[in-house]
Amino acid sequence: MALIPFDDRDGFIWYDGKLIPWRAAQLHVLSHGLHYASSVFEGERVYGGAIFKLRQHSQRLIDSARILGFELPYSCAEIEAASNAVVRAQGIKDGYVRPIAWRGAEQMGVAAQAAKIHVAIAVWEWPAYFSPDAKMKGIRMSWAKWARPAPHTAPTAAKAAGLYMICTLCKHDAEAAGYDDALMLDWRGQVAEGTGANIFLVIDGVLHTPTPDCFLDGLTRQTVIALARARQLTVVERAIMPEEFAKAQEVFVTGTAAEVTPVAEIGQYRFTPGKVCKTLMDDFDRAVRSETSSVGAA
Ligand code: PMP
Repeated sequence: MALIPFDDRDGFIWYDGKLIPWRAAQLHVLSHGLHYASSVFEGERVYGGAIFKLRQHSQRLIDSARILGFELPYSCAEIEAASNAVVRAQGIKDGYVRPIAWRGAEQMGVAAQAAKIHVAIAVWEWPAYFSPDAKMKGIRMSWAKWARPAPHTAPTAAKAAGLYMICTLCKHDAEAAGYDDALMLDWRGQVAEGTGANIFLVIDGVLHTPTPDCFLDGLTRQTVIALARARQLTVVERAIMPEEFAKAQEVFVTGTAAEVTPVAEIGQYRFTPGKVCKTLMDDFDRAVRSETSSVGAA
């Protein structure tokens, strides 16, 4: 499938308060966000024309910016309204939403107190992150070379662009070696997450997932925990060591892009997507299509 460059598409992008032609949504090369990673973003999905968990995603964008020391010049309600406006302008029924906020080009240097805060929101059609085949059989993961940093080393609770530097390195290594993704440990050697998704293990019918104390506590992760508990499944959040994959019958990853995707392989360990995985995939599919309450709320 030919890749359509992201800077050469039709339609509109919401940029600093208004919808502008897609190709005109540019920024200056001396933007602080580009040089010093003062940039935060979101990833959301549109299902049947409605953005899933729009309120939570919009609030997380605002919170991520605050963690990086800047305030968005828009309220949560304004971000929500803008996101819905782009979905409508693009005529997207099933797709992906990418809000991003960054420090501009008014000041160049480590300090950028005077830099203007910019916000843009783009929406595009987007099928499954992993192939349909992977969604049935499970993805293959390698061990990542880079570890998630400690919370006193980086602002790990923010969805900040800078934190993705090691994710891209790990994902590129994994793909070059023929894998779908990489499993990242944290600085203590505990299981953390994939390069863009959280992870769950099913051990004797009980769900185990790492405590999100140095990586993103994903909204999909939170949704899946609630869905599992509604099914009377026990969910344990705790420190998990990599050797524990030997005890897991099923493993899956969760994320806005990945949704609920089974894992077939991590390094030397093998898993078979089973009943728990399938149940939660189906429950998640139902949940994303039934939640319309946040749409058009602004
Ligand atoms: N971890 C990382 C590193 C991610 O990029 C994502 C995707 N935003 C997640 C976890 C899952 O978060 P969510 O379910 O909110 O999309």
